[in-house]
Amino acid sequence: MTDKEIMLAGFTQKILREKGFTEWKIEFGRASNNYGLCKYKKKVIRYSKLLVEANSLERSKLTALHEIAHVIVGPGKGHGPLWKKACIELGGDGIRCYSTKNTVVIKGKWVGTCDICGKEFFRYRKPKGSLTYKHSTCGGKLTFKKEN
Ligand SMILES: [Zn+2]
Ligand SMILES: [Zn+2]
Repeated sequence: MTDKEIMLAGFTQKILREKGFTEWKIEFGRASNNYGLCKYKKKVIRYSKLLVEANSLERSKLTALHEIAHVIVGPGKGHGPLWKKACIELGGDGIRCYSTKNTVVIKGKWVGTCDICGKEFFRYRKPKGSLTYKHSTCGGKLTFKKEN
């Protein structure tokens, strides 16, 4: 593990223990589009190696607080008011998704841009089927193009 991973895992474990979640484990995976993931059944918080490495430890700690809030409120609550309250109480930002405003994202080979809100999506592999999607959040047209 890298220094950043060790520090982030330690930070996460410390808060989990303080909150009484002693069985949870921390993993680092290869995902490039999920900064953190909370797996309730396996009691695992999984971080993206790539995003942890690309961003500051302080930024990764915000993701840690986001995921710990999911652990505290339990499955099925999504990013609703209970989750948001727990996240803010932990000192987090209560924000559902990361964005390029505060996060270094890993650019893939394919980039999709929404023609209404301008949000960008990255894929390592060519999207299956059509290269044009509807952006469910705003209803805009999302077209994938190969990035070079
Ligand atoms: Zn979340
Ligand atoms: Zn959009």
